[in-house]
Amino acid sequence: MHRLYENDDIAIFWDSSKCFHARKCVTGCPEAFDFARRPWVDLSRAENAKVWKTVETCPSGALQIQYRHGIDVVMETEKHRSIALDGEKLIGECEYSETPDGWVIYHTGVRPEYEGKGIARRLVYKVIEAAERNGVQISGTCSYAAKVLSEGGS
Ligand code: SF4
Repeated sequence: MHRLYENDDIAIFWDSSKCFHARKCVTGCPEAFDFARRPWVDLSRAENAKVWKTVETCPSGALQIQYRHGIDVVMETEKHRSIALDGEKLIGECEYSETPDGWVIYHTGVRPEYEGKGIARRLVYKVIEAAERNGVQISGTCSYAAKVLSEGGS
């Protein structure tokens, strides 16, 4: 299971296939991380610095964190894509096609001046999460998406 949790400043990636429940997160910052709650990550409940420090203790790599850099990432399901926006400006996208075997991500791109901010990863996670929530298989012919998908052995 892949999930993307965000607040105004930070983005957290969660890949459950990597988690071996060492519980560093729930003991380090129980306000933000609680496996008994849905959603189990709530970034409104703790200071970003504490969340950041706690994620860095995750021994499995199931949790990862980065800054949002003021860039919004949203799904446009009707257009078969997720998009990244700097204000009103479209600065990246992750596109997929619907096939009998599920969704296939065929393109992920971010404008060159926005590279190096982890935006592509957020775009791909957004599509993976949407597919999983819809009970649809997800794969990627786009090399970047395939790499993200293979990280958890999925
Ligand atoms: S710290 Fe990492 S490995 Fe441990 S329970 Fe949390 S997410 Fe899982």
